[in-house]
Parts: sequence; C-alpha cells; structure tokens
Amino acid sequence: MKTLQLTVVALGFVIVGCASEPQSQPPTWEEFMAQVTIEPETGVFIVNGDEMIESEAELAVFYNGMVAQWAGASVGETSDALIVNRVGSRDDKWSSTTAANLTYCVSQSSFGSRYNTVVNAMNSAAAAWEGTARVNFVHRSDQDGNCTASNGNVMFDVRQTSTTSYLARSFFPSTGRSSRNVLISTSSFGNISPYSLAGVLRHELGHTIGFRHEHTRPEAGTCFEDNSWRALTSYDSASVMHYPQCNGSNRGDLVLTSRDKTGARSLYP
Ligand SMILES: [Zn+2]
Repeated sequence: MKTLQLTVVALGFVIVGCASEPQSQPPTWEEFMAQVTIEPETGVFIVNGDEMIESEAELAVFYNGMVAQWAGASVGETSDALIVNRVGSRDDKWSSTTAANLTYCVSQSSFGSRYNTVVNAMNSAAAAWEGTARVNFVHRSDQDGNCTASNGNVMFDVRQTSTTSYLARSFFPSTGRSSRNVLISTSSFGNISPYSLAGVLRHELGHTIGFRHEHTRPEAGTCFEDNSWRALTSYDSASVMHYPQCNGSNRGDLVLTSRDKTGARSLYP
C-alpha cells in the first residue's frame, strides 16, 4: 500500500463495520477477501469499508503490505488528530496552486431530482474545509451536463452509484483522474441519521485533500489499516475522519473538530 495508489475514501461505516474487538492477528487472505466488494459501475475493489483499489494485482500488494505492517501497528505510539496519507516518503497532498482551485462537476443525469440536494451538500461540506485551511473547491456547473470520469475540465466528478456497500467514497490527491470521483450511494438519500449528506461529504472531501482514517492510529485499538501516514496533530477519537464504530467518540453528525482544523491548516497553511 505504500506504493499503490490507494484511492480511498468512502464512508462505509454504516454498512461495512470494522471489527469491534481489537485483533491481534492480521486477517487471512480469505478473511480479507470476504470484506472486499466490487463497485459495479467501475469494477474497482473497495476495502476497509471505503478505500478503493483499482486492480487485482494492487489488491494483492495491498494485502501483503497490510500484513507486513500489522506487526508494527501496536508499537511506536505517536503522540501526534488528523493524519495525512503518504505515498512513499511524501505527503499525499495538493500543491498550493491546485489546492486553491479544486474544480468538480455534479452529474445532472445521474442524480436527477436529487441534483440540487447534492449541489447544496457539496457546497456545505466544502465550506467546512475552506473555512479552516487554504483549500478552495470550485463547482464547475458548466460541466454538469457531461460530468463523467473522463471529463478533463475538472479535477474530479461527483456521481451517484447504486452500490450499497458504502454511503460514499472518494479518492486521494495521488489518484489518477479516471478514479478521482466522489461516488454517492443511493442509500445516502435515505435515513442515515445521525449523519447528514453534508456530514458524509465532509468526511469524503477530507480524503480528497489527503486525510486518512483517524482510526488507523494505534490509539483507536481497532480498525488498523496501515502505517502509510504522518500525524499532523494528536490523536482525536472525535475526528471527522474517524469511524464512530471504530472506538470513535463522535456521536452526532460528522463535523470538523478543533484538531481537524488545526491539522488541515498545518498541511495547507
Ligand atoms: Zn473514509
């Protein structure tokens, strides 16, 4: 997982729960595969509830890397809430120029009557990150009539999916354009209390600017994913990036905590 483009980012927690008990052993290949789902529209693999992997070969690399890192997961506790994804030895983040112009489209044809709901939720979620860090999401509504994964006029596309294995999923800055999508499940338009669609998208947009699941940190004691991240602040069980069912302390909607804000500012000052 260090080298592969882990295009994380879905919010699978309602449906695909993490183990509730801390595990002392990595999952076997069979146990791992039992949790992997395939996204019907794209064929990509979804792991960890909401992380995307683009090929079978990368899936094997991911599994082997996870097993290799498992041994180190319980040692080396870091005192540093927010963590940024790492690709090799580099932070997985946008340049300041790109961060200031993160363009996206919202597919009119895929959302239909839900289009305005999504536009508003995206605006709300974007404002939360824009209000604390030097990032700027720009809705290119002129591209909404052709909002596909191959539209090169935007950095990413926002589309609906019928997949019910997650509420939504997104990507990391290192992800290639064709997989730089925010996919929102039809299930997100039902009752997802205590979450709101905007809350789910706050989490997803956190991934799109590089932030990992907070619960992969050793302090969570469960839901370990891997060690390819760098701490920006101290551990925060209430982080917008922490699944509640992974020993999280967030009980209401998914919102940015003060440590999330501090971490985001430090990455995008
Ligand atoms: Zn996520």
